[in-house]
Amino acid sequence: MFERSRSELIACPDCGLVQWLPAIAAAQVAQCVQCAKMLTRRTRGGIDVPLTLAVTALVLLIPANLAPLMSVAERGAQRQNWLSTGVATLWSAGYGFLAILVAAFTIVIPFVYLTLLVGVLGTIRFGGPAHLGKVFRWTEHLRPWMMVEVYLVGACVAYSRLQKIAFVNVGLGGWCLMAAAFALLLFTAKLDERRIWDALAPRRPLPPGTPAISCIACELPVPQARAGDSCPRCEAVLHERKPFALHRTTALVIAGFVLLIPANLLPILTIEQLGSVDPNTILGGIRELIRADLWPLAVIVFVASVIVPLMKLFGLSWMLLLTHQRSGRYLVGRTRLYRMIDLIGRWSNIDIFMLSILVALVQFGVLSQVRAGIGAIAFGAVVIVTMIASRAFDSRLMWDAARDSA
Ligand SMILES: [Zn+2]
Ligand SMILES: [Zn+2]
Repeated sequence: MFERSRSELIACPDCGLVQWLPAIAAAQVAQCVQCAKMLTRRTRGGIDVPLTLAVTALVLLIPANLAPLMSVAERGAQRQNWLSTGVATLWSAGYGFLAILVAAFTIVIPFVYLTLLVGVLGTIRFGGPAHLGKVFRWTEHLRPWMMVEVYLVGACVAYSRLQKIAFVNVGLGGWCLMAAAFALLLFTAKLDERRIWDALAPRRPLPPGTPAISCIACELPVPQARAGDSCPRCEAVLHERKPFALHRTTALVIAGFVLLIPANLLPILTIEQLGSVDPNTILGGIRELIRADLWPLAVIVFVASVIVPLMKLFGLSWMLLLTHQRSGRYLVGRTRLYRMIDLIGRWSNIDIFMLSILVALVQFGVLSQVRAGIGAIAFGAVVIVTMIASRAFDSRLMWDAARDSA
């Protein structure tokens, strides 16, 4: 595979296999020999490139929040929409849960995430005091909850739906949001987490033969005897496996299935037009997109809102069941599926973000008005519960169970 210079002994975070990590050159990646997890990669450009991109995204988020994203005009009436307008409209309509969800994922967490990250990367780059392992660990926890690019796709769906009924204009805020999402995308491709962790506190080789565990947050190998202490690098509590992973995942998956019923049966939004009231469920919204000839968007929303939640819930149930049976079947496939589920879960929020834009913009009195529906609360809860479920699960337990039965 790669040149095997015995540089470092690590445990794969997905399957637990202890293996030597080869030294790799720029633009190379090293994968786990057992489950194909990408263990490390060397990106070109060192720390300057991700730092510049993080600063760029942070700076662009300011006009993205202060300038209007979109405006619509219908029969002389005009409305503008800021990122915060949807939050305020949902809040005043009594949908506090959705308002908090949209504000957290699109305004608060992106700012907090990028500010902390710029602090950590800047400190490393300019050689300040580097006791920032804990802060970098927080940014890693926050990353899946920072949903600028998901919001952008939701905004595209809203834009396309609005274009069918009114004249829509993308504002300065909208363009800045697009640029910020693009900078974040590049940033994710350029960030070399292992390099950051090593810059914060280099790993020290353990004496040969020491039974070791690796920190769940930063993957630092530490002697097994230190389980229960806090990690010397990121201050997370050291565990061999995520605590109560199977129980917590089972409870959350059951909650997800229960919430899925109202999320799909109840309307997520209601369109009132010239006195007629038209409630839209998730599937109804997709039918609407097809009727408007917006096929690509219909496919995106169908995958994000229907396929992804089902795949998460059934996928995790299958993993829990086979782990319970101590089965050794499809271990590599299951581990790959788990990685995918954990990665794509956040995209289910597209519909919620689209809703937050429609309720803010379509407010033309008796002519037309969009209101949030009760199904949207259940759907928002499904997304959050399934995201927490996939985070709570520990794929290494599947491998442990199979090994125990062998
Ligand atoms: Zn592995
Ligand atoms: Zn750690």
